[in-house]
Amino acid sequence: MPAPQPKPWIDAIAPYVPGRSTTDDGRKVAKLSSNESPLGTSPKAREAFAQGAASLDRYPDASAAALREAIAAANGLDPARVIYGTGSDEVLHLAAGAFAGVGDEILFVRYGFSVYPIAARRVGAVPVEAPDSDYGTDVDTLLAHVTEKTRVVFVANPNNPTGTYIPRDELQRLHAGLPGDCLLVIDQAYAEYLDEADDDGGMELAKTQPNVLVTRTFSKIYGLAAERIGWGYGPAPVIEALHKIRAPFNVTTAGQLAAIAALGDTAFVAAARAHNDRWRDWLAGEIASLGNAGLRAVASKANFLLVLFEGKLTAEEAYKALMEHGFIVRWLPGQGLPHALRISIGTEEETRGLAAALREIVGAAA
Ligand SMILES: *Cc1c(COP(=O)(O)O)cnc(C)c1O
Repeated sequence: MPAPQPKPWIDAIAPYVPGRSTTDDGRKVAKLSSNESPLGTSPKAREAFAQGAASLDRYPDASAAALREAIAAANGLDPARVIYGTGSDEVLHLAAGAFAGVGDEILFVRYGFSVYPIAARRVGAVPVEAPDSDYGTDVDTLLAHVTEKTRVVFVANPNNPTGTYIPRDELQRLHAGLPGDCLLVIDQAYAEYLDEADDDGGMELAKTQPNVLVTRTFSKIYGLAAERIGWGYGPAPVIEALHKIRAPFNVTTAGQLAAIAALGDTAFVAAARAHNDRWRDWLAGEIASLGNAGLRAVASKANFLLVLFEGKLTAEEAYKALMEHGFIVRWLPGQGLPHALRISIGTEEETRGLAAALREIVGAAA
């Protein structure tokens, strides 16, 4: 009997690997592997979420009108040009699906977000990786890899898993160097962690240019990862194309209510940003103070640090030893980073505990 055969480009997908939450022996430990919010969720968002239970029997608002209005009001945008998704992951897939297909190329930087190659292959497009520049995005190298087949360029700013960031003038230069028929997707999953002065100008490009889409998420600073809500902003014709292929009821009722309340709790967001600034810088300082053990944290503007292991102690050894100490971080051999760990910024207690454990592990290896 013949069996159904997946398309060859689907077969070629290396599945997404989520951050772990338990150890090999099943112990529950501090999870610093998925860049989640260490401060939890705004109490106002939890309350709003609970109100969603009153209408569990009804489909959600397919047009997410109130959510789009709230997003637009908070960011000075036109609500008609807001797209929403089951996580911003869905919006990234929509962009690939609407603008690329078999034979086309989708371009991104090496050590970029691991969803990009999946989004490309899923629609039969060829994922093209441009080399990084010391773990950062290099605009000239990206532009040098644009061909007449390039339909979509993904840039995460700040980038995951490196935490690196390209400033406004570099992002503008990237946009200016792209052909008009190439969609530039600026993935701003960590934008809310940036200082105002570090605004990369992506939203301004999405407001004014015909080929720029910005994506955002409620999963990170807003602490709503469980509800899967992301959104995007771009020119009307681009947004219209994305709507055609999104699932009709892709954002839940409770999720829409929670996201609206989360947007309104600006004090919670400010506290989350301040916490992140403080403990990210503190942890980077701790790693630098380990001296000549060969550990180096890449400069980060996100809610995590990519730590390179360039000495005797390997990232794999440190990963396993940290797990023994009760900390799960992300080891990334599948992303070409067998020599690196990505460590999310946790609570004060978790961050202090992790630094102490790392100091002990480095000492034992010396
Ligand atoms: C976490 C993350 C996302 C989005 O996640 P969703 O939960 O699907 O909204 C998108 N891009 C990057 C770079 C991320 O790190």
